Amino acid sequence: MREIDLETELVRCLRCGYCRALCPVFEGLMNESWNARGRILLIRAFKEGSLKPEWLKSYVERIFACTLCKACEEICPAGVPVTELILWGRKLVIRQGLEIYPEYEELAKAILEKGNIFGKEEDAFPVRERRAKTLLYLGCTVRYQYEEFGRIAMALLDALHVEYDLKREKCCAGFLEMLGMEEEFERASGECSKIVEGYDEVIVVCPMCYHAFKDLYGMENVVHLVEKVKEGIEKGVIKLEREVNATVFLHDSCHMGRYAKMFDLPREILSSIPGLRLIEGTRTRERARCCGGPIRVPFTEIRDKVAEAVVEESEKLGADGIVTECPTCFHNIRAVSFGTVYDLLELVAYSARLIDRIPVYE
Ligand code: SF4
Ligand code: SF4
Repeated sequence: MREIDLETELVRCLRCGYCRALCPVFEGLMNESWNARGRILLIRAFKEGSLKPEWLKSYVERIFACTLCKACEEICPAGVPVTELILWGRKLVIRQGLEIYPEYEELAKAILEKGNIFGKEEDAFPVRERRAKTLLYLGCTVRYQYEEFGRIAMALLDALHVEYDLKREKCCAGFLEMLGMEEEFERASGECSKIVEGYDEVIVVCPMCYHAFKDLYGMENVVHLVEKVKEGIEKGVIKLEREVNATVFLHDSCHMGRYAKMFDLPREILSSIPGLRLIEGTRTRERARCCGGPIRVPFTEIRDKVAEAVVEESEKLGADGIVTECPTCFHNIRAVSFGTVYDLLELVAYSARLIDRIPVYE
C-alpha cells in the first residue's frame, strides 16, 4: 500500500476497541497501548510529531511487540489494515535512525552475513542439484533446529515420486520485512531470489517462507508441502494406514491461516489419519490465537503468555497434544508446554509408515 494511502488508513480507525477481543498481546497484558487501537493512536502521534520525547522508547516497544498476526483485522468493522500500519510504524522508526533492539541488529547481521537467522555456518543437509523442475526449500528453522522435519519432508517427496533439488539456502528474509528493515530486506531477499529462480515449482515447509515467496517476492510457483501431501492422499499415493491413537488440538498458524487462507487443508489431512480425533477450540481458523513466535526475542515473557493461552485452551478441551503445520509455531508452543506437540507432517509420515516413530524432541 502507498504511504499516502496508509496516512488515510490511520484515521479510519473508529476507536471502537473490538480489536481487543482477539489481540493475543492485549489478552496477555490487558493494556490498551499494546493493542491495535492503542498502537494506531501512537503511530498517528509519532507521524504528526506530537509524541512526547519521553514516550519514544515506549512507542518503539509497543510497535515492535505486535506479532503481526492479523487477528485484529478479522474483527475490525472498519477494515483497518492494522498490520500494514504497524509495519509502516516500524519503518518510520528505522528510517529516523532511532534506537531499536540489539537482538534485531544481530538477527539482520546473521541473515546478511551467514544466510540464516541463527547465524550458523553449516547445516546437516546435502546439496542435490539434479536439474530437477522442483526445488525443496526447508527454511532456517527446519535446517538448523528441527532437522527431522527436513528428513520427513524429503521422505514425503520421495513417496510422492517428486524429483527435486535441494540447494544451499539463504533465509527468505521474511523476518527483516516484518521488522521494517527495508534496506536489509532488499539485500537479503535479492540473494534468496537467485536461489529459488528457474524452477517450475518451489515446495516449502515453513509457512513464513511461503508468505515471503508468494506475497513479498510475487512468486506464483510456490506451494506448501501440505498441499502436495493432500494431493498424494487423494490420489492414493500416500496411504494413511497406521493408527495414531490421540486426541489433538489443531493450532492454525497465522501464516498458513490468516495470511494464506489454508484453513481446510490441515483439517482434511488430519481427519484422514485413522484413530486420530481432532478437536477445535473456541478460537479457531480466522480467529485462532498466535503462538507469539514473531516476538520471541526480545519479548520472550510476552511470547510465553501468548503461547501459554494456546496450551491452556488445548488442555481445557482435554487434548492429548497440539498439532501444527508450522515449524515456528511448533517451536514456540513447545517452549511453554509440558505436553506433546506434533508436527502435522510427522503424523502423516508415521501413519503412512514412512517413519517408525513420531520424533520426540528434548
Ligand atoms: S477494531 Fe478496527 S476500528 Fe475498531 S479500534 Fe480496532 S482497529 Fe480501530
Ligand atoms: S496484529 Fe495481532 S498482535 Fe498485532 S495488534 Fe493485531 S491482533 Fe494484536
